[in-house]
Amino acid sequence: MARLAQTAGLTDIQEEILATVRTFVDKEIIPHAQTLEHGDTYPADIVEGMKEMGLFGLTIPEEYGGLGESLLTYALVVEQIARGWMSVSGVINTHFIVAHMLKQHGTPEQKQKYLPRMAAGEVRGSFSMSEPELGSDVAAIRTRAVRGDSGYTINGQKMWLTNGGTSNLTAVLVKTDEGAEKAHQNLTTFLVEKPEGYGEVLPGLTIPGKIDKMGYKGVDTTEMVFDGFEIAPEQILGGVSGQGFRHMMDGVEVGRVNVAARACGIAIRAFELAIEYSQQRRTFGKAIAEHQAIAFKLAEMATKVEAAHLMMVNAARLKDSGQRNDVEAGMAKLIASEYCAEVTQESFRIHGGYGYSKEYEIERLMREAPFLLIGEGTSEIQKTIISRGLLRDYQSRG
Ligand SMILES: Cc1cc2nc3c(=O)[nH]c(=O)nc-3n(C[C@H](O)[C@H](O)[C@H](O)COP(=O)(O)OP(=O)(O)OC[C@H]3O[C@@H](n4cnc5c(N)ncnc54)[C@H](O)[C@@H]3O)c2cc1C
Repeated sequence: MARLAQTAGLTDIQEEILATVRTFVDKEIIPHAQTLEHGDTYPADIVEGMKEMGLFGLTIPEEYGGLGESLLTYALVVEQIARGWMSVSGVINTHFIVAHMLKQHGTPEQKQKYLPRMAAGEVRGSFSMSEPELGSDVAAIRTRAVRGDSGYTINGQKMWLTNGGTSNLTAVLVKTDEGAEKAHQNLTTFLVEKPEGYGEVLPGLTIPGKIDKMGYKGVDTTEMVFDGFEIAPEQILGGVSGQGFRHMMDGVEVGRVNVAARACGIAIRAFELAIEYSQQRRTFGKAIAEHQAIAFKLAEMATKVEAAHLMMVNAARLKDSGQRNDVEAGMAKLIASEYCAEVTQESFRIHGGYGYSKEYEIERLMREAPFLLIGEGTSEIQKTIISRGLLRDYQSRG
């Protein structure tokens, strides 16, 4: 069972964390995932369990009360959680990205103010770049912050905000007037503190309600509407305006490794379900796993699971070693999400008609896998990043 997606060279601490999370996933997530997902119910008890295990502070430095673990540890934890239920990994993903951005780019005061409470899970992060008119084309952001005597006033609308209602600190990328020629140099990340919940949560700031999605249920995804919302200059990430694009791209880069890990988790689960079912289901006098057509499907699925896992681990290790990993993170995200969609589809086919029944887990995975083709940049955007990086490194001498 545990042959696939192994990772060589882990420390004892990493092994221990993973064993604890794996047990938690098997006992506390998998048995409840179907019911919670079908009811679109927020997994409050599971989230409490994750808080107790310290997962909200997994990558936050020890000096701020976290466990100070690496991106690799985080990604392997996420892979396990997504194997249980992808939505649960969504609860910690945006939190992890905001903590990373604060850790890398926050002022000393901002780190001190937020990171200890983020490590404890009291402050829960979300991040917002997308708008109704744009997702891939981040530099085209329209939501605008205008500087006044006492601070900034923000107007505009954000879209697709994961954990929009259940977070209380949102990193929001908006347009500011730096007068720079390039559009992306006129963007600034604000740290918006807000109460959890829906409706007008603060004067000038409304979280309208949950978007009804095809999958990725339980976790809330919302819009965020600014109408004359006032915010102090101290809430600019890093204290200097015009740096927001760079901050967000750094966050999204670790986010891509994380999405790759989620895709690996779903693919592992889809494979586990398929190999189990194919040994139980009999046709023409034998288990379907004994038909070569099905056995070959299993072989191909496992190979894809293994390849995606290795590329995800490689991208995480590169980032941990301090090297640039935009190309590798893009490749890992691309292959893991595409393979996840393929492996899930094959597992569904192996389940025959039962795969279409809501009683079987594969039905849920079929609705979850497509999100990973979109989140943190579509496959087309990954290919753009990868090819740009390759052309940079393999410049023609002709
Ligand atoms: C469930 C869910 C949760 C999300 N959570 C968040 C969140 O927490 N925070 C956040 O900021 N965003 C979030 N998003 C938004 C997500 O990042 C965007 O949906 C994604 O980046 C794609 O943007 P878009 O939907 O505007 O598609 P578009 O950018 O409009 O793209 C449409 C199509 O055109 C293709 N395309 C676009 N540009 C190019 C190009 N240059 N070359 C070739 N093809 C191109 C795309 O690949 C895609 O196939 C979430 C989305 C979903 C569905």
